[in-house]
Amino acid sequence: MVDQAIIDEVRSRNDIVGVIGEYLPLQRVGRNYRTRCPFHSDTHPSFYISPQKQIFYCFGCQKGGNIFTFLMEYEGIGFFEALKKLGEKVGIEVKGKTRGKYEHLYELNELVSEIYHQTLFAETGKAGFEYLKKRDISEKTIKDFKLGFAPTYARLIVTLERKGYRREDLIRGGLIVGTHREIFRNRVIFPIRNPSGRIIAFGGRAIDDKTEPKYLNSPETPIFKKRATLFGLDAARRSIIDKQEVMIVEGYFDLLTLHQHGYHNVVAPLGTALTEEHGLILSRYGKKAIIVFDADPSGIRAAIRSISQLLSNMDVRVVELPPGSDPDSLVHEDPSRFNQFLDRAVYGFNDGLDRAIVKPLAKGYQAMAPRAGALFAPTRSMGPVYSAVSVPARQAYSHWASLGSTKPGMR
Ligand SMILES: [Zn+2]
Repeated sequence: MVDQAIIDEVRSRNDIVGVIGEYLPLQRVGRNYRTRCPFHSDTHPSFYISPQKQIFYCFGCQKGGNIFTFLMEYEGIGFFEALKKLGEKVGIEVKGKTRGKYEHLYELNELVSEIYHQTLFAETGKAGFEYLKKRDISEKTIKDFKLGFAPTYARLIVTLERKGYRREDLIRGGLIVGTHREIFRNRVIFPIRNPSGRIIAFGGRAIDDKTEPKYLNSPETPIFKKRATLFGLDAARRSIIDKQEVMIVEGYFDLLTLHQHGYHNVVAPLGTALTEEHGLILSRYGKKAIIVFDADPSGIRAAIRSISQLLSNMDVRVVELPPGSDPDSLVHEDPSRFNQFLDRAVYGFNDGLDRAIVKPLAKGYQAMAPRAGALFAPTRSMGPVYSAVSVPARQAYSHWASLGSTKPGMR
């Protein structure tokens, strides 16, 4: 048990506005502050903070409490962990040990990440290091994101068993399939973190172009839900809040390269399209979402699917890149040119569907897949977007569609 005096001290030395302000953008209203509620799908700010009373309350979902409750709910941690974190902020050491239900999985991932990271700088990781160099990833980025390497002759099981881990732990942690096969071999490793920065899974990129699949992620575990995870969110969080804007890219390398060039408000889903959960999570941090997917058919389809997941909570824009390019290559070639695309070719969704999305996307799509039949693919997946837009936008779409040589499969 922790002494009540310590709890009171931690509470009185922390200011609730400062604590919540680290996670959410706050707006002053009279004596209070408000923001959009992180605990329910909130379109208008209904989440209020009172500095006088040091409490928060949401008029939408009726959730309320103090700094401890906020941190527990928001980070999904227990009381003791919240107390410890808040104590650290004000220089109060909270003694005692607690273990969350999945603490052993987080610890295992931390250790595995360390092994992969060290391997990258060792002789066995040379191929991985060379690969990252070839992709122009700097040593600083490698260290910031703690990138690693899993060699072909995988030794993870041996190393971990020597440290006292059992085979079941590794299976539960999503590190091996069957009883002995390590999931990541001969791959560059990207640790995947939750918003508070703890490693919950790994992604791996094959270092040659023969290996399939090119990208591989850990299987789901009790701490890793793919559809609710965004790569890079922990590193991007602060910047998204400050700018009120998030850039969404397709892959690990797009994100790393952008980060390296000073764009810090970037996240990437771990597949291609965004999910509803992703949309809800992002809307907690910022108002505007900019989709910067690859200008190829699959990127365009993913962009179209992703728009609908963001529409209800955010102002969504799409960047039209030159056909066949992606953010990674474009930024490398010429950062200022990428900026131009970002500034100029960002279309407001409400300007009309044709100008905003359909026309540029379909134009790019047509350029690359000129066969008439191919047009049906993006049109069909546009269903959810189509039903969410205004009448003038629909008319714009119909207008565009009538110009096409193919009749799109949509009414
Ligand atoms: Zn709420």
